[in-house]
Amino acid sequence: MTQKTFLLSAEGVNKSFDGFKAINDLNFYVEKGELRTVIGPNGAGKTTFLDLITGRTKPDTGRIEFEGVHDLGALTEHAIYRLGIGRKFQTPTVYSDHTVFENLVLSLEGSRGVFASLFFKLNPAQKDRIQEILETINLAPHAQRKAGTLAHGQKQWLEIGMLLAQEAKLLLIDEPAAGMTDEETARTGELLLSLVGKHTILVIEHDMVFVRQISQGRKVSVLHQGSVLCEGAADVVQSDERVIEVYLGRKHAR
Ligand code: ADP
Ligand code: MG
Repeated sequence: MTQKTFLLSAEGVNKSFDGFKAINDLNFYVEKGELRTVIGPNGAGKTTFLDLITGRTKPDTGRIEFEGVHDLGALTEHAIYRLGIGRKFQTPTVYSDHTVFENLVLSLEGSRGVFASLFFKLNPAQKDRIQEILETINLAPHAQRKAGTLAHGQKQWLEIGMLLAQEAKLLLIDEPAAGMTDEETARTGELLLSLVGKHTILVIEHDMVFVRQISQGRKVSVLHQGSVLCEGAADVVQSDERVIEVYLGRKHAR
């Protein structure tokens, strides 16, 4: 029997908070290089799932595996980060008093803390890498600005850039479009699409216009009451009766 190796796999995962099953016998698989979108109503367990992947909380039962070998449930948050799993939270967490450029330097693989990394000399390959990231995230003209002065959308892009600087193998992005203008949202979609094939990305999102933009026929997973309700192309899941009932039939239908 040949067994497929996934970059990330969750099998039979359960997580309760005070008797409430936030994650309920969840099975979830992501292949290397995928851009996967996860949708689902509030309280479906989307953020909890990310907390379980990153080690912020631990599964009660079940197994979450990375690269087919690492049992994430047995590792600390730091060890999981070191494996190459990077997370972008809903609210941007950039170093406001440092420039955009410095923020990226601080995130570089192998940088050794704030003080050391601001004074260590970048080698040419690192300089090129930062320049490339600045261009990818549309912030090259703002490299010398303090991150705190950026617009909300730009801060989110910087944070995605910081995940790229970390060389994260798996990027976890929670509701990137929240609080963005339509134009920022569209540009965020373009940014994520430009990373396809180079990175594996798991995006949680509510905005269905954005979901359709980034999924383009790729698999969308619908989470409901802590399990996958269905998976498929955005159009397919959007017309699934069960999905309409639990989620899209309500205020998020467009
Ligand atoms: P989503 O991100 O899909 O909106 P969450 O994963 O944030 O959903 O939450 C799923 C459920 O688990 C919610 O009912 C939430 O209140 C509960 N929950 C999440 N984290 C905790 C926690 N640390 N303690 C208690 N309850 C939690
Ligand atoms: Mg959430």
